[in-house]
Amino acid sequence: MAEPTLPRLTPKLLAAFNTLAPEAASGLRRATLTLDLSALRHNAMVAKRAAGQRKILAAVKADGYGHGAATVAHALRGIVDGFMVASLGEGEALRQAGITQRIVVLQGVMNQAEARRAAKRFLEPVFHHASQIDAVGTVGFGLPLTVWLKIDTGMHRVGFTPQEFPAAYARVSTLRGVRPNSGVLTHFARADEPDAAPTQAQIALFQQATAPCAGELSLCNSAGLLAFPEAGGDWVRPGIMLYGGNPFTEGTAAAHDLRPVMSLTTQLIAVRTVLAGESVGYGGRFTAPETMPVGVAAIGYGDGYPRHAPDGTPIIVNGQRAALIGRVSMDLITIDLRGITAAVGDMVECWGAQLPIDEVASAAATISYELMCQMSGRVARRVVELDA
Ligand SMILES: *Cc1c(COP(=O)(O)O)cnc(C)c1O
Repeated sequence: MAEPTLPRLTPKLLAAFNTLAPEAASGLRRATLTLDLSALRHNAMVAKRAAGQRKILAAVKADGYGHGAATVAHALRGIVDGFMVASLGEGEALRQAGITQRIVVLQGVMNQAEARRAAKRFLEPVFHHASQIDAVGTVGFGLPLTVWLKIDTGMHRVGFTPQEFPAAYARVSTLRGVRPNSGVLTHFARADEPDAAPTQAQIALFQQATAPCAGELSLCNSAGLLAFPEAGGDWVRPGIMLYGGNPFTEGTAAAHDLRPVMSLTTQLIAVRTVLAGESVGYGGRFTAPETMPVGVAAIGYGDGYPRHAPDGTPIIVNGQRAALIGRVSMDLITIDLRGITAAVGDMVECWGAQLPIDEVASAAATISYELMCQMSGRVARRVVELDA
């Protein structure tokens, strides 16, 4: 694999980032998540250019992919046209936080009480199963409910099949509490892969099924938005690209001009010499092939660093690229410091401005989405604008 391109990071930005970084002065040595809102807005502008005339529903489910849904929504509200969450509770929390734009709720509503909650807050539930239409029934909800229907065009997870769809759409149109001309959406299963055929088939099925529909249409996630301009629709639904993750199984985020929003950093709390033949950490997974310096950093799976990261997982120490060695513990990791200039107190970056999260995800056999979502509440958070 070619050496991935690092995200655009000028010496000036790096200096700003490093001085902002560890709370060394206060003696606080802990994992810190730095969220760069200027990168978030930049990525949203990349999405906006790709969207053309289409409007943007920014995916902020799972607490904004771990970045903080309200923080993200406030930062993006001048750029995007609405937001998409998984659950009613996530939608209500965004309203509570003062977000007034359209909010689509992917799981939809399961009964009349939930439909009333959605209507009250102007949340737009997605209907993906007939049982939801049955449950909502023909009563009114005080305020008319804007709803979406989901068609299963190939993901085979949720949604009405193209065969079921016309009847479901007709039935929803007769519900008294629901606004006419519901929106219709579908979700791509394989838009992130090099083979375009499965996505093209999904697009064709969707276009066919929705030809008689007068409401708003939406097809694209991040990968669909960037790789399938022909998909069309009225709304696009980017998620991962906003946060600077690579939406594709190949290549890099930087190649799409996406910048990392989240940087996970901590400090070296010890630098020690491990003798040739000695093993490091639980299970002795790494044995020193020679007498060597090993750094210990204050972060572990208790903070959300992936426990399955193997020896060799890249990590940045004091601006230099180093490698994880030994098993990840709850609060600590160990780092090979051979050839690295480092001292106690130096900044360690697990991923972010200096190291694409996708590289760490791929080393740990997962995807950036999961790393972002699994940040623990223990991690300190701060919001910055590096490029302001
Ligand atoms: C999460 C999600 C998205 C966003 O996907 P990304 O791959 O993060 O861009 C879009 N649509 C639906 C239905 C989703 O669940």
